Amino acid sequence: MKKAFILLLSTCMLLSIFSSSVFAKQNHPSTEGNTNISSIVTYDDMIKELKALEKRSKGELEVFTLDDLGYEYSKSEQGRDLYVAKIGNGPEKVWIQSRIHGDEPYGTEASLQLLQMYISNQSTQYRKVLDELTLYIIPMYNPDGSEMNIRQTVLMDQETSEPLLNDRGNQIRIDLNRDWAEGAFAAVESKAWYSYWTDIQPDYGIDIHHQGLKTDSETGEAITMSLGISLAPGGPTLPNIKDGQYEDITRQMQVYVFDALKDYGFINIDRYTTGNNRTGFTEIDIHGGVVSAMMLGLNYDGLNEAEHSHPAIFFETSGNTRDGNLGQRARGHNIRQNALGIQELLYGLASEEVFGVDPERWDEIPRPDITGYNTDHSGFVPVAY
Ligand SMILES: [Zn+2]
Repeated sequence: MKKAFILLLSTCMLLSIFSSSVFAKQNHPSTEGNTNISSIVTYDDMIKELKALEKRSKGELEVFTLDDLGYEYSKSEQGRDLYVAKIGNGPEKVWIQSRIHGDEPYGTEASLQLLQMYISNQSTQYRKVLDELTLYIIPMYNPDGSEMNIRQTVLMDQETSEPLLNDRGNQIRIDLNRDWAEGAFAAVESKAWYSYWTDIQPDYGIDIHHQGLKTDSETGEAITMSLGISLAPGGPTLPNIKDGQYEDITRQMQVYVFDALKDYGFINIDRYTTGNNRTGFTEIDIHGGVVSAMMLGLNYDGLNEAEHSHPAIFFETSGNTRDGNLGQRARGHNIRQNALGIQELLYGLASEEVFGVDPERWDEIPRPDITGYNTDHSGFVPVAY
């Protein structure tokens, strides 16, 4: 049953990649190895595509901005609207965010591709997802950083619309994925998305990133995708949340994705680590990361008094614009594996197959030995053997 489903998907994906105006850009000449952002979906492209998809969906997909919803903080630092695409009618809510780092572009396209799949396919598996889940998809969390092709956002003087400067006369850049913490929330985007999250109270979270080009530390083979949990399983934080419940569910979610994707020829998966052979490898345990704060049930500014929380995971696919743009073929694969990974996971959640997975199988996913945890709360924490 499962196998037939995957084959079907793979055919649908091939068809859908070439069927939209945004993706038609893949036909531009390849610029292998050079940083070329002209083929990457811009903010305006995204809006155009979202509106086209909404129209085609005949009411199934709702596209709106936080400003439409009347939020006090509802736009980016530079005044761009923040877009949400909502689809599905199920009781379980899934928050899917892309491009919190502006120079990690393909999550936006993966989100659009995912929406396209649900709109144009009426298979029972897809219906199951839309009947059991409601998806809140954020294709571009950081529109300013995306337009500038930088990781962070830039803080602006809201009166003059000029960048704020620090004591040394430099722009103040904020990594939005360190900005959901007590004493943080420096950027207006963080306040806006956090307020919305506290109102939605999702049940699960998925965050799409891209890392640099990566190879297996032992075999030298290219890694196309790393599966990550931003509070490391077995690390200083996650085992202590809800008696280890999220440690189990996050690992189940990732093992499910691993099982579903590992047989595709173009996907080579490992677990997300930082560091290298020379410095040693570490896992991350960052409290200020958005999906971490979701698991910690952060109550900022009294907006989450009940300390709502939920399990959340992230994907890191290889290739961001810091390392030069990928060739067109790799780029298509990159987008496709993201969309497939999310889509498989959503079916696993809707069907509850995810909860039948043995969480300990997380250890079967390749990962170099680690020396410890990189944290934003206790410095470097050596691994306890
Ligand atoms: Zn990132």
